[in-house]
Amino acid sequence: MNRLDRDILKIMPDGTEKHINPFTGTEVWFIPGRRNRPFASKRTENPEKIVKHSPEDYCDFCAGRYFNTTPEKSRIVLNNGQYECQDQLAPEDIFSKPAEFRRISNLFEIVTVNYWKKNFNYKLSDKNQRRKEKYLSSELGRNHVIAIINMKLKLSGYSEEQIKSISVDEKLAMSDAFFGGAHELIIPRRHYTEAAEYTTDLNASGSLTPVEHAEYFRFTIQSVRDIYDNNRYVRYVSVFQNWLREAGASFDHLHTQLVGLDEWGVSVERELELASRYPNMYNEFAANFAAYNNFVICENDFAIAFADIGHRNPTVAIFSKSEHCRPSEHTEQELKGFSDIVHGIHAAMGSNISCNEEWYYMPVDSVIPMPWHVLIKWRISIQAGFEGGTKIYVNPMAVSEVRDYLVPRLFDLRYQNRIAPFAIAEECPVKPNSLKYYLYKRTT
Ligand SMILES: [Zn+2]
Repeated sequence: MNRLDRDILKIMPDGTEKHINPFTGTEVWFIPGRRNRPFASKRTENPEKIVKHSPEDYCDFCAGRYFNTTPEKSRIVLNNGQYECQDQLAPEDIFSKPAEFRRISNLFEIVTVNYWKKNFNYKLSDKNQRRKEKYLSSELGRNHVIAIINMKLKLSGYSEEQIKSISVDEKLAMSDAFFGGAHELIIPRRHYTEAAEYTTDLNASGSLTPVEHAEYFRFTIQSVRDIYDNNRYVRYVSVFQNWLREAGASFDHLHTQLVGLDEWGVSVERELELASRYPNMYNEFAANFAAYNNFVICENDFAIAFADIGHRNPTVAIFSKSEHCRPSEHTEQELKGFSDIVHGIHAAMGSNISCNEEWYYMPVDSVIPMPWHVLIKWRISIQAGFEGGTKIYVNPMAVSEVRDYLVPRLFDLRYQNRIAPFAIAEECPVKPNSLKYYLYKRTT
């Protein structure tokens, strides 16, 4: 029996919920009485008063430490109230103006530039090669690159002597990852919020304004495109955000990761395989299913968010309604609408729940349509031995509790004017088959 033919949600008389993720097959139980774990990240336990610094210099992603990261690929700045993209500034100009968002390569790549070189005979594109040469032609740029390579070697366990024994030319060759690697970070400006007093007042996705959040998404999508444009072996760019340590983040400073892959990854592959057999599955088993079970949290003309089933942690799914499947194919209005809903969910969660934001979308070489969707998974559950043995996962919250946690907060945020206008809970139109991905026509 296929998992889509099974009963994917069953609520027992004692309140136990058993659910199966229609797309992954993950079986999850919610058992009443096992819910009283705290939500908030461990880092909230002993908040300390912040000593304010301007520019911020609390971590290497902060505005006061631009040279502590790899060379910047591009940035977004505000010019007379308008966002403007600046490509590879000269190292001498890096502190000329604060960057609202920066794009840099990850110091420790998951899929390294050598992976592409050794397995695909990958070479830096002409554009990236020119950028590398230009950056290294400046003394400041060259010293910066060598300092970062030395830091990387040190963090990788090399002794001072070993680092000294590596020639400058060899070190400069190692810097290809900074200019043509496919693992990148997008970093918003602030570490703490403008009004922050304590170390718990971090600048999270939901602390941004809806306009800033949309720009964050736009810049991320533009960077995804650039990875494809400069590495023809990339078949999918995985986009995700790890928020706080419990979610795998090594910095408390907000950032999104982009990782180019030579495959789609297991999740996307499985979803597309199912989607080829069930062309309307994202309506039937996601948006419509959520509507019929009252799991919808909020909605606008461009996206719908609901508490999702079949995850070991409480999870909110946000689906784009657009017939344009890839993020880069979304119109300006569709992108803003989708971003508004994702932003609203983050804002309602607040900045102290650790979470992963994961993007799923139609790969560049797929012909099977898949709507752009984002999962926000709260990292509040600890795996028990029971789960290892049974592959049944215990989620600490009922699906409806996730909705009930967020909905009143969304109404409060709307009252405070901190989120874009959209329908919340009962206000949502929840029309059947609201996701139009099945009408997909390739535009590029
Ligand atoms: Zn920082």
